[in-house]
Amino acid sequence: MKKLIARVKQRRKNWEVCLRNMDLKRKKAFTKLLLEWHRNENHRVMPWKGIRDPYRIWLAETILQQTRVEQGWAYYERFVQAFPTLADLAVAPEEHIFRLWQGLGYYNRCRNLLHTARELVSHHGGLFPRSYEQLLTLKGIGPYTAAAIASFAFDLPHAVVDGNVLRVLSRYFGWEQPIDTSEGKRLYSSLANELISRESPGAYNQAIMDLGATICRPRVPLCGQCPLARCCKAFEQGKAEQLPVKVSRRTIRQRYFHYLVIWYEDRIVLQRRENKDIWRGLYEFPLLEADAPGGAELLHHAAWKNLLPDEDWILKSISDRQQQLTHQRIYARFFAVETSRPPAVLAHQILVHRHQLTLYAFPGIIIQYLRDGQGRLF
Ligand code: SF4
Repeated sequence: MKKLIARVKQRRKNWEVCLRNMDLKRKKAFTKLLLEWHRNENHRVMPWKGIRDPYRIWLAETILQQTRVEQGWAYYERFVQAFPTLADLAVAPEEHIFRLWQGLGYYNRCRNLLHTARELVSHHGGLFPRSYEQLLTLKGIGPYTAAAIASFAFDLPHAVVDGNVLRVLSRYFGWEQPIDTSEGKRLYSSLANELISRESPGAYNQAIMDLGATICRPRVPLCGQCPLARCCKAFEQGKAEQLPVKVSRRTIRQRYFHYLVIWYEDRIVLQRRENKDIWRGLYEFPLLEADAPGGAELLHHAAWKNLLPDEDWILKSISDRQQQLTHQRIYARFFAVETSRPPAVLAHQILVHRHQLTLYAFPGIIIQYLRDGQGRLF
Protein backbone atom coordinates (compact mmCIF):
# COMPACT_ATOMS: atom_id res chain seq x y z
CA MET A 1 0.00 0.00 0.00
CA LYS A 2 2.80 2.38 1.00
CA LYS A 3 4.58 1.60 -2.27
CA LEU A 4 1.44 2.34 -4.24
CA ILE A 5 0.96 5.71 -2.52
CA ALA A 6 4.63 6.57 -3.13
CA ARG A 7 4.25 5.66 -6.81
CA VAL A 8 1.14 7.83 -7.19
CA LYS A 9 2.96 10.72 -5.49
CA GLN A 10 5.97 10.28 -7.75
CA ARG A 11 3.77 10.22 -10.87
CA ARG A 12 2.03 13.38 -9.75
CA LYS A 13 5.43 15.04 -9.25
CA ASN A 14 6.61 13.97 -12.71
CA TRP A 15 3.45 15.31 -14.29
CA GLU A 16 3.87 18.65 -12.56
CA VAL A 17 7.55 18.92 -13.57
CA CYS A 18 6.66 18.02 -17.13
CA LEU A 19 3.93 20.64 -17.31
CA ARG A 20 6.21 23.22 -15.76
CA ASN A 21 8.85 22.79 -18.44
CA MET A 22 6.40 22.64 -21.32
CA ASP A 23 4.61 25.76 -20.23
CA LEU A 24 7.55 27.87 -19.17
CA LYS A 25 7.48 30.15 -22.20
CA ARG A 26 3.74 30.43 -22.16
CA LYS A 27 3.79 31.31 -18.50
CA LYS A 28 6.28 34.11 -19.01
CA ALA A 29 4.11 35.66 -21.71
CA PHE A 30 0.80 35.20 -19.89
CA THR A 31 1.07 37.72 -17.07
CA LYS A 32 2.79 40.32 -19.25
CA LEU A 33 0.20 40.17 -22.04
CA LEU A 34 -2.68 40.12 -19.59
CA LEU A 35 -1.50 43.19 -17.69
CA GLU A 36 -0.78 45.11 -20.89
CA TRP A 37 -4.30 44.41 -22.10
CA HIS A 38 -5.73 45.45 -18.72
CA ARG A 39 -3.83 48.75 -18.76
CA ASN A 40 -4.64 49.71 -22.34
CA GLU A 41 -7.77 47.94 -23.52
CA ASN A 42 -9.82 46.63 -20.65
CA HIS A 43 -12.73 49.09 -20.54
CA ARG A 44 -15.14 46.95 -18.52
CA VAL A 45 -16.93 49.17 -15.99
CA MET A 46 -18.43 47.91 -12.72
CA PRO A 47 -19.23 49.94 -9.58
CA TRP A 48 -16.92 47.91 -7.34
CA LYS A 49 -13.97 47.88 -9.75
CA GLY A 50 -10.82 49.59 -8.51
CA ILE A 51 -12.08 50.15 -4.97
CA ARG A 52 -9.76 49.35 -2.09
CA ASP A 53 -12.22 49.35 0.77
CA PRO A 54 -12.26 45.72 2.04
CA TYR A 55 -15.87 46.06 3.21
CA ARG A 56 -17.16 46.98 -0.25
CA ILE A 57 -14.98 44.38 -1.96
CA TRP A 58 -16.37 41.73 0.38
CA LEU A 59 -19.93 42.95 -0.23
CA ALA A 60 -19.48 42.84 -4.02
CA GLU A 61 -17.81 39.41 -4.03
CA THR A 62 -20.46 37.93 -1.74
CA ILE A 63 -23.28 39.26 -3.91
CA LEU A 64 -21.57 38.03 -7.08
CA GLN A 65 -21.19 34.40 -5.91
CA GLN A 66 -23.50 32.33 -8.19
CA THR A 67 -24.89 35.59 -9.60
CA ARG A 68 -24.46 37.33 -12.94
CA VAL A 69 -22.80 40.76 -12.82
CA GLU A 70 -25.85 42.40 -14.46
CA GLN A 71 -28.09 41.05 -11.71
CA GLY A 72 -25.69 41.71 -8.82
CA TRP A 73 -24.99 45.32 -9.85
CA ALA A 74 -28.28 46.81 -8.56
CA TYR A 75 -28.08 44.75 -5.35
CA TYR A 76 -24.57 46.01 -4.67
CA GLU A 77 -25.66 49.62 -5.11
CA ARG A 78 -28.70 49.10 -2.89
CA PHE A 79 -26.59 47.55 -0.13
CA VAL A 80 -23.94 50.27 -0.27
CA GLN A 81 -26.63 52.91 -0.07
CA ALA A 82 -28.43 51.23 2.84
CA PHE A 83 -25.23 50.25 4.71
CA PRO A 84 -22.34 52.49 3.65
CA THR A 85 -20.01 51.01 6.27
CA LEU A 86 -19.39 47.70 7.99
CA ALA A 87 -20.70 49.20 11.24
CA ASP A 88 -24.01 50.11 9.54
CA LEU A 89 -24.44 46.54 8.29
CA ALA A 90 -23.56 45.04 11.68
CA VAL A 91 -26.42 46.82 13.47
CA ALA A 92 -29.05 46.17 10.76
CA PRO A 93 -31.99 43.92 11.64
CA GLU A 94 -31.97 40.54 9.83
CA GLU A 95 -35.40 41.24 8.27
CA HIS A 96 -34.09 44.42 6.64
CA ILE A 97 -31.13 42.60 5.09
CA PHE A 98 -33.32 39.74 3.85
CA ARG A 99 -35.66 42.25 2.22
CA LEU A 100 -32.77 43.87 0.34
CA TRP A 101 -31.43 40.46 -0.65
CA GLN A 102 -34.81 39.22 -1.88
CA GLY A 103 -34.68 37.70 -5.36
CA LEU A 104 -30.93 37.05 -5.28
CA GLY A 105 -31.23 33.49 -3.89
CA TYR A 106 -28.67 31.47 -1.90
CA TYR A 107 -29.78 33.12 1.33
CA ASN A 108 -26.94 31.57 3.33
CA ARG A 109 -24.73 34.27 1.82
CA CYS A 110 -26.99 36.87 3.36
CA ARG A 111 -26.97 35.20 6.80
CA ASN A 112 -23.17 34.90 6.67
CA LEU A 113 -22.84 38.55 5.67
CA LEU A 114 -24.62 39.66 8.81
CA HIS A 115 -22.82 37.14 11.03
CA THR A 116 -19.39 38.21 9.79
CA ALA A 117 -20.17 41.93 9.98
CA ARG A 118 -21.14 41.48 13.65
CA GLU A 119 -18.11 39.30 14.32
CA LEU A 120 -15.75 41.89 12.80
CA VAL A 121 -17.29 44.72 14.80
CA SER A 122 -17.31 42.84 18.11
CA HIS A 123 -13.98 40.97 17.89
CA HIS A 124 -11.77 42.73 15.31
CA GLY A 125 -12.37 46.40 16.11
CA GLY A 126 -14.53 46.79 12.98
CA LEU A 127 -11.58 46.04 10.68
CA PHE A 128 -10.91 43.23 8.21
CA PRO A 129 -7.83 41.11 9.00
CA ARG A 130 -4.97 41.93 6.65
CA SER A 131 -3.91 38.34 5.92
CA TYR A 132 -5.38 35.75 3.54
CA GLU A 133 -5.27 33.02 6.19
CA GLN A 134 -7.13 35.13 8.75
CA LEU A 135 -9.71 36.21 6.21
CA LEU A 136 -10.43 32.53 5.59
CA THR A 137 -11.43 32.06 9.23
CA LEU A 138 -14.46 34.34 8.76
CA LYS A 139 -17.83 32.75 8.04
CA GLY A 140 -18.83 32.91 4.38
CA ILE A 141 -15.34 33.90 3.21
CA GLY A 142 -13.82 31.13 1.09
CA PRO A 143 -10.55 31.06 -0.91
CA TYR A 144 -12.01 33.16 -3.77
CA THR A 145 -13.35 36.01 -1.62
CA ALA A 146 -10.29 35.94 0.65
CA ALA A 147 -8.01 36.24 -2.41
CA ALA A 148 -10.12 39.11 -3.80
CA ILE A 149 -10.00 41.08 -0.53
CA ALA A 150 -6.31 40.30 0.06
CA SER A 151 -5.26 41.38 -3.44
CA PHE A 152 -7.61 44.31 -4.12
CA ALA A 153 -7.50 45.88 -0.65
CA PHE A 154 -4.07 44.88 0.68
CA ASP A 155 -1.95 44.16 -2.46
CA LEU A 156 -1.23 40.58 -1.36
CA PRO A 157 -0.37 38.06 -4.12
CA HIS A 158 -3.25 35.59 -3.80
CA ALA A 159 -4.91 34.53 -7.05
CA VAL A 160 -8.68 34.37 -7.42
CA VAL A 161 -9.81 31.11 -9.02
CA ASP A 162 -13.36 30.93 -10.33
CA GLY A 163 -15.03 29.58 -13.48
CA ASN A 164 -13.67 32.44 -15.62
CA VAL A 165 -10.12 31.95 -14.40
CA LEU A 166 -10.24 28.16 -14.82
CA ARG A 167 -11.50 28.53 -18.39
CA VAL A 168 -8.79 31.02 -19.38
CA LEU A 169 -6.01 28.91 -17.85
CA SER A 170 -7.25 25.62 -19.24
CA ARG A 171 -7.51 27.05 -22.75
CA TYR A 172 -4.38 29.13 -22.75
CA PHE A 173 -2.22 26.21 -21.56
CA GLY A 174 -4.31 23.61 -23.40
CA TRP A 175 -4.72 21.65 -20.18
CA GLU A 176 -7.19 18.79 -20.34
CA GLN A 177 -7.02 18.14 -16.63
CA PRO A 178 -10.68 18.34 -15.46
CA ILE A 179 -11.40 21.52 -13.52
CA ASP A 180 -13.94 19.94 -11.18
CA THR A 181 -11.86 17.23 -9.48
CA SER A 182 -9.90 17.93 -6.32
CA GLU A 183 -6.67 17.15 -8.16
CA GLY A 184 -7.63 19.52 -10.99
CA LYS A 185 -8.58 22.29 -8.58
CA ARG A 186 -5.25 21.92 -6.78
CA LEU A 187 -3.25 22.09 -10.02
CA TYR A 188 -5.10 25.08 -11.46
CA SER A 189 -4.97 26.95 -8.19
CA SER A 190 -1.24 26.37 -7.88
CA LEU A 191 -0.74 27.53 -11.49
CA ALA A 192 -2.84 30.67 -10.86
CA ASN A 193 -0.76 31.51 -7.80
CA GLU A 194 2.43 30.98 -9.74
CA LEU A 195 1.29 33.35 -12.51
CA ILE A 196 0.00 36.22 -10.37
CA SER A 197 1.96 39.45 -10.61
CA ARG A 198 3.84 40.17 -7.38
CA GLU A 199 3.86 43.89 -8.19
CA SER A 200 0.20 44.28 -9.15
CA PRO A 201 -1.80 41.34 -7.76
CA GLY A 202 -5.08 43.25 -7.74
CA ALA A 203 -4.73 44.37 -11.36
CA TYR A 204 -3.78 40.83 -12.39
CA ASN A 205 -6.83 39.30 -10.67
CA GLN A 206 -9.15 41.90 -12.16
CA ALA A 207 -7.63 41.40 -15.60
CA ILE A 208 -8.04 37.62 -15.72
CA MET A 209 -11.62 37.81 -14.43
CA ASP A 210 -12.51 40.47 -17.00
CA LEU A 211 -10.83 38.61 -19.83
CA GLY A 212 -12.74 35.44 -18.96
CA ALA A 213 -16.04 37.31 -18.77
CA THR A 214 -15.71 39.42 -21.91
CA ILE A 215 -13.33 37.67 -24.34
CA CYS A 216 -12.56 34.08 -23.36
CA ARG A 217 -16.29 33.45 -22.94
CA PRO A 218 -17.70 29.96 -22.28
CA ARG A 219 -19.34 29.75 -25.70
CA VAL A 220 -17.94 31.47 -28.81
CA PRO A 221 -14.72 32.91 -27.34
CA LEU A 222 -13.52 36.04 -29.13
CA CYS A 223 -10.07 34.70 -29.96
CA GLY A 224 -9.67 37.26 -32.75
CA GLN A 225 -9.72 40.06 -30.16
CA CYS A 226 -7.78 38.23 -27.46
CA PRO A 227 -4.43 39.62 -26.28
CA LEU A 228 -3.31 36.08 -25.41
CA ALA A 229 -4.10 34.53 -28.80
CA ARG A 230 -0.53 34.39 -30.09
CA CYS A 231 0.58 32.15 -27.22
CA CYS A 232 -2.71 30.35 -26.56
CA LYS A 233 -2.50 26.59 -27.02
CA ALA A 234 -6.24 26.00 -27.44
CA PHE A 235 -6.36 28.68 -30.13
CA GLU A 236 -3.33 27.19 -31.84
CA GLN A 237 -4.95 23.74 -31.84
CA GLY A 238 -8.46 24.97 -32.61
CA LYS A 239 -9.97 23.43 -29.50
CA ALA A 240 -11.00 26.45 -27.45
CA GLU A 241 -14.63 25.38 -27.25
CA GLN A 242 -13.73 21.89 -26.04
CA LEU A 243 -12.02 23.29 -22.96
CA PRO A 244 -12.19 23.28 -20.02
CA VAL A 245 -12.97 19.61 -19.34
CA LYS A 246 -15.46 18.69 -16.62
CA VAL A 247 -16.14 15.19 -15.33
CA SER A 248 -19.14 15.64 -13.13
CA ARG A 249 -22.73 15.73 -14.16
CA ARG A 250 -24.91 17.49 -11.65
CA THR A 251 -27.87 15.52 -10.35
CA ILE A 252 -30.93 17.69 -10.05
CA ARG A 253 -33.42 16.87 -7.33
CA GLN A 254 -37.07 17.42 -8.31
CA ARG A 255 -39.31 18.79 -5.54
CA TYR A 256 -43.05 19.32 -5.56
CA PHE A 257 -44.34 22.15 -3.35
CA HIS A 258 -48.06 22.72 -2.80
CA TYR A 259 -48.91 26.11 -1.37
CA LEU A 260 -52.17 27.07 0.28
CA VAL A 261 -52.80 30.75 -0.48
CA ILE A 262 -55.57 31.36 1.95
CA TRP A 263 -57.36 34.72 1.92
CA TYR A 264 -59.58 36.02 4.66
CA GLU A 265 -60.89 39.44 3.62
CA ASP A 266 -57.71 41.40 2.79
CA ARG A 267 -55.43 39.19 4.81
CA ILE A 268 -53.34 36.19 3.96
CA VAL A 269 -51.62 33.43 5.96
CA LEU A 270 -47.80 33.27 5.92
CA GLN A 271 -45.21 31.19 7.71
CA ARG A 272 -41.43 31.41 8.04
CA ARG A 273 -39.15 28.63 6.81
CA GLU A 274 -37.13 27.52 9.81
CA ASN A 275 -35.68 24.12 8.87
CA LYS A 276 -32.17 23.67 7.47
CA ASP A 277 -33.24 23.65 3.86
CA ILE A 278 -33.44 26.13 1.02
CA TRP A 279 -34.86 29.59 1.84
CA ARG A 280 -34.38 29.39 5.62
CA GLY A 281 -35.62 32.58 7.26
CA LEU A 282 -37.85 33.59 4.32
CA TYR A 283 -41.65 33.68 4.33
CA GLU A 284 -43.98 31.50 2.29
CA PHE A 285 -47.57 30.23 2.32
CA PRO A 286 -48.54 27.07 4.26
CA LEU A 287 -46.75 24.29 2.42
CA LEU A 288 -47.20 20.61 1.72
CA GLU A 289 -44.32 18.90 -0.02
CA ALA A 290 -44.98 15.64 -1.86
CA ASP A 291 -43.17 13.19 -4.14
CA ALA A 292 -45.39 14.10 -7.10
CA PRO A 293 -47.77 16.91 -8.09
CA GLY A 294 -51.08 16.72 -6.19
CA GLY A 295 -54.58 18.02 -7.02
CA ALA A 296 -57.42 19.72 -5.13
CA GLU A 297 -57.77 16.67 -2.86
CA LEU A 298 -54.81 18.12 -0.91
CA LEU A 299 -57.13 20.82 0.42
CA HIS A 300 -58.55 18.15 2.73
CA HIS A 301 -55.13 17.12 4.01
CA ALA A 302 -54.80 16.88 7.79
CA ALA A 303 -51.92 19.39 7.80
CA TRP A 304 -54.28 22.13 6.55
CA LYS A 305 -57.26 21.21 8.74
CA ASN A 306 -56.71 24.20 11.03
CA LEU A 307 -56.89 26.60 8.10
CA LEU A 308 -59.71 24.89 6.18
CA PRO A 309 -61.83 23.26 8.89
CA ASP A 310 -65.18 22.95 7.09
CA GLU A 311 -66.81 24.06 3.87
CA ASP A 312 -66.71 27.83 4.58
CA TRP A 313 -64.19 28.37 1.83
CA ILE A 314 -64.10 28.49 -1.96
CA LEU A 315 -61.26 27.38 -4.21
CA LYS A 316 -60.57 30.35 -6.54
CA SER A 317 -57.68 29.11 -8.66
CA ILE A 318 -54.88 26.60 -9.07
CA SER A 319 -51.72 27.74 -10.81
CA ASP A 320 -48.21 26.41 -11.32
CA ARG A 321 -44.72 27.93 -11.27
CA GLN A 322 -41.22 26.50 -11.53
CA GLN A 323 -37.86 27.61 -10.23
CA GLN A 324 -34.47 26.16 -11.07
CA LEU A 325 -31.87 26.20 -8.30
CA THR A 326 -28.34 24.84 -8.62
CA HIS A 327 -29.16 21.31 -7.45
CA GLN A 328 -32.93 21.38 -7.30
CA ARG A 329 -35.87 22.08 -9.50
CA ILE A 330 -38.92 23.34 -7.63
CA TYR A 331 -42.38 22.70 -9.06
CA ALA A 332 -44.82 24.82 -7.08
CA ARG A 333 -48.60 24.55 -7.23
CA PHE A 334 -50.59 27.40 -5.66
CA PHE A 335 -54.13 26.76 -4.41
CA ALA A 336 -55.84 30.15 -3.90
CA VAL A 337 -58.71 29.83 -1.46
CA GLU A 338 -61.07 32.41 0.06
CA THR A 339 -62.59 31.80 3.44
CA SER A 340 -65.46 33.59 5.13
CA ARG A 341 -64.11 32.91 8.64
CA PRO A 342 -60.76 33.92 10.13
CA PRO A 343 -58.43 30.94 9.76
CA ALA A 344 -57.09 29.42 13.00
CA VAL A 345 -53.40 30.07 12.47
CA LEU A 346 -50.85 27.88 14.26
CA ALA A 347 -47.98 29.21 16.39
CA HIS A 348 -45.59 29.46 13.43
CA GLN A 349 -48.15 31.13 11.13
CA ILE A 350 -49.30 34.75 10.87
CA LEU A 351 -52.23 36.54 9.27
CA VAL A 352 -50.88 39.51 7.32
CA HIS A 353 -52.71 42.37 5.62
CA ARG A 354 -51.99 42.62 1.89
CA HIS A 355 -50.51 46.13 2.32
CA GLN A 356 -47.96 44.73 4.76
CA LEU A 357 -46.60 42.05 2.44
CA THR A 358 -43.77 44.32 1.34
CA LEU A 359 -42.36 44.06 4.87
CA TYR A 360 -41.53 40.39 4.39
CA ALA A 361 -38.85 38.63 2.36
CA PHE A 362 -40.02 35.80 0.08
CA PRO A 363 -38.34 33.20 -2.17
CA GLY A 364 -38.33 34.04 -5.90
CA ILE A 365 -41.11 31.62 -6.76
CA ILE A 366 -43.52 33.29 -4.30
CA ILE A 367 -42.60 36.76 -5.57
CA GLN A 368 -43.30 35.55 -9.09
CA TYR A 369 -46.74 34.35 -7.98
CA LEU A 370 -47.55 37.54 -6.08
CA ARG A 371 -46.42 39.78 -8.92
CA ASP A 372 -48.13 38.27 -11.91
CA GLY A 373 -51.68 39.04 -10.83
CA GLN A 374 -52.67 35.54 -9.72
CA GLY A 375 -51.96 36.56 -6.18
CA ARG A 376 -53.55 40.05 -6.65
CA LEU A 377 -50.50 41.64 -5.03
CA PHE A 378 -47.19 43.49 -5.52
S1 SF4 B 1 -7.12 32.95 -27.64
FE1 SF4 B 1 -9.24 32.33 -27.42
S2 SF4 B 1 -9.17 30.48 -26.20
FE2 SF4 B 1 -7.17 31.46 -26.00
S3 SF4 B 1 -7.35 32.66 -24.14
FE3 SF4 B 1 -7.88 34.00 -25.86
S4 SF4 B 1 -10.10 33.86 -26.07
FE4 SF4 B 1 -9.43 32.17 -24.77
